[in-house]
Amino acid sequence: MTFLDVHVAQLNRVGKTVSSRLAILGIHTLQDLLFSFPFRYEDYSRVFHIGELAPGVTGSVEGNIIDITTRRAFRTVRTITQAYVTDDTGTVGAVWFNQPFLSETLKVGHRISLSGKVESRGNELVFSNPSYERLTSGVARINTACITPVYPLTANITQKQLRFLISQALLKVDDIAEWLPVEIKDEEKLMDGMTALREIHFPSSYKTLREAQRRLKFEEIFLLQLYNEISRKDVKQHHAFSVSFESRFMREMVSCLPFELTNSQKKAVWQVVQDMERDTPMNRLLQGDVGSGKTVVCALVVANVARAGYQAAIMAPTEILARQHYETFCKLLSQLPLRIALLSREQAEMKGDGKTEEGRLSQRKKTVLKSLEDHTVDVVIGTHALLSNNVNFARLAFIMVDEQHRFGVLQRKALREKMASRSMHPHMLSMTATPIPRTLALTLYGDLNISVIREMPKGRRPIQTRVVSSHERASIYHFINKEICSGRQCYVICPLISESDTLGITSVEEEHKRLTRSVFRDMPIGLLHGKLPAREKEKIMDAFVRNEIKILVTTSVVEVGVDVANATCMLIEGGERFGLAQLHQFRGRVGRSDLQSYCFVMAGGSLQSRKRLHIFASCNDGFELASKDLEFRGPGEMFGNEQSGFTEFKIASLVDTEIIDQASMWARKLVETDVNLSAYPLLSEKVQKKLAEVHLE
Ligand code: ADP
Ligand code: MG
Repeated sequence: MTFLDVHVAQLNRVGKTVSSRLAILGIHTLQDLLFSFPFRYEDYSRVFHIGELAPGVTGSVEGNIIDITTRRAFRTVRTITQAYVTDDTGTVGAVWFNQPFLSETLKVGHRISLSGKVESRGNELVFSNPSYERLTSGVARINTACITPVYPLTANITQKQLRFLISQALLKVDDIAEWLPVEIKDEEKLMDGMTALREIHFPSSYKTLREAQRRLKFEEIFLLQLYNEISRKDVKQHHAFSVSFESRFMREMVSCLPFELTNSQKKAVWQVVQDMERDTPMNRLLQGDVGSGKTVVCALVVANVARAGYQAAIMAPTEILARQHYETFCKLLSQLPLRIALLSREQAEMKGDGKTEEGRLSQRKKTVLKSLEDHTVDVVIGTHALLSNNVNFARLAFIMVDEQHRFGVLQRKALREKMASRSMHPHMLSMTATPIPRTLALTLYGDLNISVIREMPKGRRPIQTRVVSSHERASIYHFINKEICSGRQCYVICPLISESDTLGITSVEEEHKRLTRSVFRDMPIGLLHGKLPAREKEKIMDAFVRNEIKILVTTSVVEVGVDVANATCMLIEGGERFGLAQLHQFRGRVGRSDLQSYCFVMAGGSLQSRKRLHIFASCNDGFELASKDLEFRGPGEMFGNEQSGFTEFKIASLVDTEIIDQASMWARKLVETDVNLSAYPLLSEKVQKKLAEVHLE
């Protein structure tokens, strides 16, 4: 145990409340705290004499408070605190809104530092809501008069609080041993780790900040690549069932499909079944943009697995998607004598021999579990629930993880081990729409072989996307109405920060109410969000699939995977709240047939966010959008990486190609010479610790 593992509650001013708020941000230990990086900086480093200030200037001043008062704003509950600060050259005002406690902490005569932007009000110059700090000797400034860090925050923690906690943590953990091998550090001219941590939070200059960023990106990618390399070596040591492949059978299966496969799909199937004839576990990634038809590739592979006498498991990220895959697989594989089961936290079902299991959930779960153990079920489709300890297979040869960008490298490794039985590892296929160029994928997912679906199914037309504003609502609703009258369906997507965002839930519910009551009266409109019970979700999804619900008002629960080809129209509310990559995922819910589809994005917000939405409207390429996203938002920003599919990185991103190349080269070199990294005890310890701490849920 090092200082890094110490709980944040050990810091000054961290009681129960603050600790639980930090926990919401995922911050438990000092390590978590120190590795919560700023997503941008305010440059307050220039200190002015008050007499030099002019409207529009951003910077800092130091002076004495000569007056400070707090009053209630006229007819509201808002408070306004007003202060005057003076130095030898002049006086400047400062106003803060809704911080009534300020006149308790700051008093006339206190010497303070103020940072922010200067505005002119009447004939006065004022700082509006400036950062401030009392100047007491011996305390370093972290909120003013420096390049000041700004963190992505929620959960009632203020910037000031977090800066204080981080500065404390930096004092406690003042000496992390350098674990990066010295030859790498020297050769790549990297800053040492401890300095980088200090500089990323409280940079002494932009130059050192850039160096700190480069060091931290490097270590992040380097570690990931080490796991990749170790995992690749590891796979080669395990055994897997060799699943034979019969081309006649496959040709028959393909000829029964309701459409003709694209060349990319055929090639992908071929690559997978070839891999699986070997007796070492396959570890392959199937990459293809939204709507390119990945599911059917997997279904064909599953058919072959079952024919050869083995079991297959399909894992989806949500309950909705698990059910959809279950229905799709039952349909696509209906001509085979298979038993297919659905198993998740909230659902359990089995089809085959024309029977569907009845009874209570717990009873049905038991039946499914037993059937997996005695091999009366051939294919099971589910969620994370498939990883529970009570799930055991008789002869599991294949596992597919859909939307794998939701799982990281380490989880993939843990998953394979979890599903292994009696020294046999399953073949694993991961599927993703994460748009990343092949060369980059090859480096980043070094432990995987990659298949790419390049083309869309025949007859698809590009989706027409338009940025709209609220005064156009009437005409958009008119358009939607017309589409519905000609038999089509529509999604209305409402922003929701996270599944626990109750405010967001209220807003989807209200939007649903508004549309039902005053816009589309007499129209069957469904409401779908993650907080509904699975039964309810299933009922609504089913009704939408059967075209009984015409408009589905929903949240990001439909972000991934949902496939209703008759839906041709989408209205995204609050477009500025989403990243470009995520918008692209949403848009992928329409345009899934040869019907012309439309996507409207409602734009509120700033000019900058409108500009972003216009880029989305003019571009249909997932990768281009993901890269643009990073330019606009900066890596590591609140939604950035996670939603463009790079969950593994906090600070690095896919545009850091040079660092990716260097770090990968070193990782390969080290593992090639010695998998156990015995020459680098600190590094080896770090890697082992990380591998041990991966949780699958
Ligand atoms: P994704 O790659 O996003 O997971 P899906 O597998 O859900 O896409 O497929 C999208 C839709 O395209 C589905 O309705 C599927 O039936 C259909 N589809 C898949 N392949 C073809 C094809 N070769 N020709 C026509 N339609 C296809
Ligand atoms: Mg899919």
